[in-house]
Amino acid sequence: LVNSNVSVVIIGAGPAGLTLALQLNKAGIDCIVLEKHTRQYIETRTRAGVIEQNSLDVFEKLGVADRMKREGLRHNGIYLSFEGVRHHIDFGKYLNDKAITIYGQQEVIKDLVHACLDRNVALEFEASVTGILDIDGATLKVFFERDGVSQAMNCNFVAGCDGFHGVSRSAAPISTCHVYEKEYPFNWLGILADVPPSSPELIYAFHKNGFALHSMRSPSISRFYLQVADNEDLSNWSDQRIWEELALRLQAENFQLKIGFIKDKSLTPVRSFMIDHMQFGNLFLAGDAAHIVPPTGGKGLNLAVADAVTLYQGLFDYFHKGIKSTLLSYSSRRLASVWRVQEFSDFMTNLFHLSSPIDSFEHRLQKARFTYITTSEAASKSIAENYVGI
Ligand SMILES: Cc1cc2nc3c(=O)[nH]c(=O)nc-3n(C[C@H](O)[C@H](O)[C@H](O)COP(=O)(O)OP(=O)(O)OC[C@H]3O[C@@H](n4cnc5c(N)ncnc54)[C@H](O)[C@@H]3O)c2cc1C
Repeated sequence: LVNSNVSVVIIGAGPAGLTLALQLNKAGIDCIVLEKHTRQYIETRTRAGVIEQNSLDVFEKLGVADRMKREGLRHNGIYLSFEGVRHHIDFGKYLNDKAITIYGQQEVIKDLVHACLDRNVALEFEASVTGILDIDGATLKVFFERDGVSQAMNCNFVAGCDGFHGVSRSAAPISTCHVYEKEYPFNWLGILADVPPSSPELIYAFHKNGFALHSMRSPSISRFYLQVADNEDLSNWSDQRIWEELALRLQAENFQLKIGFIKDKSLTPVRSFMIDHMQFGNLFLAGDAAHIVPPTGGKGLNLAVADAVTLYQGLFDYFHKGIKSTLLSYSSRRLASVWRVQEFSDFMTNLFHLSSPIDSFEHRLQKARFTYITTSEAASKSIAENYVGI
């Protein structure tokens, strides 16, 4: 690969990078994906699980949605719960046949990697990018290491799809940008358990001990999250304590929590991050490399896919029509949508997390917001529309 040339170098084989690679491949635009981890590592990493209708449509067009549609769980609604009072948001009632699909991110990655290899997309594992040079020039140089050997590639464009902790954002002149950050004062303790879901659809719950989310990955695997302190230590949470706390926080009439073997336990920070540019010369940032949303709205993976689609449209116009304006409008088109999602994710986070004492002014506002949702068709419809994806 030393000093070879390619039109687009994609850094990172996450949802953003792989979706972009498959689109470019379909359009006959040559690209290479450089991924620092092994195939096995990225295909087993437990992360998101809510696939919006828009993302499913993208995967269908790319011919990678067969297993997702066969094995994924199609949900036509979600439950919202506040201090034991449950309210159902029925997507079908407001949005015709739009729905979400529950399908683990690691399964999405397996499908996308399989399609890439099947279609001869150049995909290099254990190739860790160390730097990018000349982002404003016609030829960019991407440096990476594999098997302890430093290598370099030339390209016309770099798609930085390497997540929040990747290298591509550091190659951009971030100091000239406006950065927006919000750290929420709590973490999520997430578990994956070998137990059938206790509910047919997701439950978002506010309880005086904090937020809980009941999600699932398949008819036999459930995923749960608990709000915990931001300095929490996992060792403080025995399996028994986790199940007791979930049972308490998800409590509602006729609800019985099913308990099973916990096979994965992790802590996730809850934060927001934005920059006011996603393009720097011929370097484009996509997905978590460009923005982070709190996980409460189930949007991280879906934003990554949507970024990849818009970036692909710009690259297609450039390579096939000689038009650069679509590519140049990438930042402005995506930022407007990402801010919309930031607002919704922040709204869901504030609605369901405990951040002030019970009976404080803030708690009363949360309660008033929830009551409004339960009594207003317009409020319920707004949640449905944002949750399924605008
Ligand atoms: C623990 C956890 C739980 C989450 N849970 C949820 C959830 O429940 N719901 C939700 O919507 N979202 C969730 N998210 C967020 C969601 O997973 C991300 O938004 C999504 O993965 C973003 O996709 P991406 O392609 O932008 O980046 P990523 O999926 O992060 O992919 C980036 C890739 O780049 C690679 N890479 C990094 N640096 C380099 C380098 N120097 N060289 C080469 N490759 C590199 C990484 O190995 C990785 O494979 C979670 C995230 C985490 C970390």
